[in-house]
Order: sequence, then C-alpha cells, then structure tokens
Amino acid sequence: MTFSVHGIAVARGIAIGRAVVMGSGRADVVHYFIQPSQVEAEIERIRAGRNAVVDEIHRLQQTITTMGPKEAPHELSALLDVHLMLLQDEELISGIKHWITDRLYNAEWALTTQLEALSRQFDEMEDEYLRERKADLEQVAERILRYMKGMPSPVQQPAPRRKTQQDLLLDDSVDVPLVLVAHDLSPADMLQFKQSVFAGFVTDVGGKTSHTAIVARSLDIPAVVGARSASNLVRQDDWVIIDGDTGVMIVDPSPIILAEYGFKQRQVELERGRLGRLRHTPAVTLDGQKVELLANIELPEDAEGALRVGAVGVGLFRSEFLFMGRGIGDMPDEEEQYLAYRKAVEGMQGLPVTIRTLDVGADKPLDEKPRDEAHLNPALGLRAIRWSLAEPEMFRTQLRAILRASAHGKVNMLIPMIAHATEIRQTLSLIDFARAELDNRGVPYGNVPIGAMIEIPAAALSLRTFLKYFDFLSIGTNDLIQYTLAIDRADESVAHLYDPCHPAVLRLIAGTISECVRQGKGVSVCGEMAGDTQFTRLLLGLGLRSFSMHPAQILAVKQEVLRADAGRLAPWSREVVDSEDPGLALSA
Ligand code: PEP
Ligand code: MG
Repeated sequence: MTFSVHGIAVARGIAIGRAVVMGSGRADVVHYFIQPSQVEAEIERIRAGRNAVVDEIHRLQQTITTMGPKEAPHELSALLDVHLMLLQDEELISGIKHWITDRLYNAEWALTTQLEALSRQFDEMEDEYLRERKADLEQVAERILRYMKGMPSPVQQPAPRRKTQQDLLLDDSVDVPLVLVAHDLSPADMLQFKQSVFAGFVTDVGGKTSHTAIVARSLDIPAVVGARSASNLVRQDDWVIIDGDTGVMIVDPSPIILAEYGFKQRQVELERGRLGRLRHTPAVTLDGQKVELLANIELPEDAEGALRVGAVGVGLFRSEFLFMGRGIGDMPDEEEQYLAYRKAVEGMQGLPVTIRTLDVGADKPLDEKPRDEAHLNPALGLRAIRWSLAEPEMFRTQLRAILRASAHGKVNMLIPMIAHATEIRQTLSLIDFARAELDNRGVPYGNVPIGAMIEIPAAALSLRTFLKYFDFLSIGTNDLIQYTLAIDRADESVAHLYDPCHPAVLRLIAGTISECVRQGKGVSVCGEMAGDTQFTRLLLGLGLRSFSMHPAQILAVKQEVLRADAGRLAPWSREVVDSEDPGLALSA
C-alpha cells in the first residue's frame, strides 16, 4: 500500500530505488556489491563466521559445566542454548543467502539486512517471551559481525550503476538503485558513504543544516532528514521514492506515481545537463560585477569535484573530517595532516584553498565516547576554537601542518567560532609560535592570510576588533542562525524556527558585509545560505562578491549571478532586510 513520510528536504533531486533500512549503530557495517562469481565465497564467509561463533559458544558451555551455580547460573546456560538455536535457524541462514545471491550484497550487509527483517517479525509477536528473543538475535549477529571484522574480505567494491526509470520499469534485477533509510547517521558515517552505492537517503532525525545534512548535500544525492519514524515504517527492500525538493518519501509507489516521478527525475537530469554548460563561464553579473564562487570540501579528494564544476578555489575546507572515524585519542599527526592539506592545495592546481582549523564538538564529536556531561549543551560548550585553545599542542600541530601546505600553493587559514578578543590574541600568538617552530626546524612555508568565521552574534557585533586583527572574514550562517535564534540546528523538533530570513540574522549578515566592504577587507559567506539560490540576489544586493558552497550548488548559483544586476538589487536588498517579514519580502 502506498504511503508517504514527510521530513525536511536537504539535498535536491529524485531518487527511486529499494530501501536499505539501517537501525542505529549499523552504519559501521560495510556495504558493497559483489560480483556473481563471488557469491559462493561470500556465503562461505558467513558460514565461517557462524561456525566460529558456534564453536565459541560450545567452548563457553564446556567452561560453564566446570563452574558452580553461583558463578554460572542456570539462566546463563539456557541463554547459550537459545543463541545456539538462533545460530542454526534456517530462516536466518536462508535469508542471508537470499540477499547475497539475489541482491549481490556483501556478507556483512546481507547479515544485517536479514537481522532487520527478522527483528520486525519478532516485534510483531504476541508472546512476550518470544518478542524478547530479538535481543538475543541481535547479540548473535553482533558476534558474527565481530568475528568477520577480523576476516579479510576478498571482494573489491565495484562502482554502482545508476539505473534510469525506464530500466526500473522493465526489470528488477540485482543492480537496482538502493536508498538508505536510517534512524541517524553521524557525519563520520556519512563520510563512509562518500564512495557508497546509495542513490539517496532518509533519516529519522536531523535538521536542515545538521552536519549530516551538509555531507549529504556534498554527496549530491537526494536526501530528506527529520522524517521522524521513517526507519520504522519502511521495510527492508520496499520500493521508495525520495523527493529531495519537497522532503517527501513515498513508500511502495503505484505505477502511476512511479511514472510521474520518473518524469521529474529526467527533468532534473536535463536541468543538470543545461547547467553543466556554464562550467567555464565567468561568474559576472549583468552590470559587470565579478563574483567568486568557491567550494566547501570535507576531504582533499573533493578538490577534484570542485574543479569539475568550475570553482575558483576552496572557501571552506572542513578539516575536522580528517580527524573523524578514528579510534579514541587517535589524531592525525603533523605529517599526515600536512600531506592531506597539501593534497587539497595541489588538487586545486594553483587556486586558493581556505583551510579551517578543527571544528569539533556539538554534532561533530570526535568519537562515540559517552559524555558524562550529557546534560550540558555541546553546541554551547567546548567546540571549535575553544577546543583548540584548550589543547594547544594539538592545535599547534595542526597550525604547522597548514603553514607547511602553503609552500605548495595559495593557502588561507580560517578560525571557527571565535568571539572574544582574548581568544583572538591567543590564537594569533599560537600561529606565531607555530611559525617560529617551523623556522627553527628550517621548514618552508608561505604567506598565509588569517581569517575568522563570523558564527556567533557577539562576533558580528564586534567587527571593529575582528577587522583589526584578521585579514578576512567568512560568515558561517549555519551557526550564526543557530546562535542568534537559539535553535539547535540538528534538532528536527525546532527546525521550523530555524529561519535564515529572521530580520536579526539578516541584519548581522548585512552589517558584516558592509563593514568589510567599507574597510576593503575580504568577506565571504560559507554557510548553507551561500549555496541556496533563493538568497543569491539578496546577498549580491548586500554587496557580497564571494560565495562558498558545495560543488553541487555552484552552477545553479552561477546561473542566478549571470541573471542579476547587482547595482539595481542593492536598494531592494536593504528594503528586504529592513522589512518586518523579510521572508515574505524576498518571495514577493
Ligand atoms: C557555518 O556554521 O555556517 C559553517 C560553515 O560551519 P559548519 O557548518 O561546519 O559549522
Ligand atoms: Mg559553523
């Protein structure tokens, strides 16, 4: 039966495919397709994993028999019997084989998919005892997965083939597109999906500018977040449509709906093709104003995609992604960071790269360590530059690595979430210290302009101090909105109040741009507003000439720039900012 689930649209486009439902915590499992010739080997890997766990349980049972009832109560042995029974359950095994053979999933993926399907059956059981066996099933699967983690996978990950709507209607073979439906995905999980097979995704939680949404946008696949109970409502392998423009997921669509969305999907592809022709066109307004369209990247490899769409530099390299998805306390050292920054700089082939120093904390934790200060609000806590100043050794390591990368091309350094004059002075003296350390070692580095992000209202209201110390400013609208309106950007329950058009937000942005222009200092916007075409004309009218966004958004913004007359937009933009309801004025 067709039904739809509504959430928040975060990455545009239409995806049509079969659902891969992932409960929380399952994102660490590798997902890739195997070749038909590898089916037997994958089934063998599962078999070996299962047999190893069966042996482990047998050994445990033997140990138990030598213990007294106090150390090994009867319940423990009964529990092991249940685990053995589940391990030998035909439905588990035959289901896993089905996903491997018919869908060509790798073994781990097949196991978690079948686990998800069986878990639902357990949830629907009347008998409470049987319902509770779901936890045992999960433990058994967990054991197999843990064992398999130690086993090398012989299989390479082949690139997925995206199918057209026509293909979908004609056949239902193994390489249909897949869409991910998950409770939540951390930014680190999302990074893992950069190379992934998914054509789109939906999560139960998250807001429009949560970091998960931002990474989704950078993947350029249709995505919806904050869809509440989507991962409970959709079943494994259901057909779903994700409409990343309206924030809707349609489950089990009828042929008519499927045809309608197939048509929309083709329209989107045509529009992409049209925009592609603007790649080499300089971004100049009708009245001759040159506009700089820069890329936001998360990893050095993203530089390639930035160049492909004609970015004239990187306006924001979120360096924290180099630090994520590692073991607790495992930080990249100076050499590793230097090589990564250098790779981005060289990848941009002489164009400037703005590297932002580490911005961890809030919704970008470095690890999954439970925080004993969970009652505190991490968005207001030890985040970004506050974290770096609290860890000066680590910070200086990063500073040296960034400085060293500047020997290979144009590098700017950007400091996140800074508000106080004391923080500014401390940061600049640590940068001097890092330079002196490199001088002592005789290591070369270039001239690196230092900029600050305007992300806290206090910073936007202290421009005199900021412009005294910094070479340029970059407005981080995602956080500026969050902190001006006191709205957690990752919380879907207050997402309707997260408003870039609030007059207070626009006044802070307008004031920052005009003060920088007045003083002849560089200013850009690198938050999500820069890549949203509804704001391009407004920002141009306010005097902005530098926009930094995901590569996927650059060509659409360029099209707006080419159609705009910046001089004529200026009075209109002021009116919008000064109006009671700028959102309305903007759309009028
Ligand atoms: C911002 O806050 O607008 C920004 C660009 O930084 P991030 O989204 O990484 O917090
Ligand atoms: Mg920010």
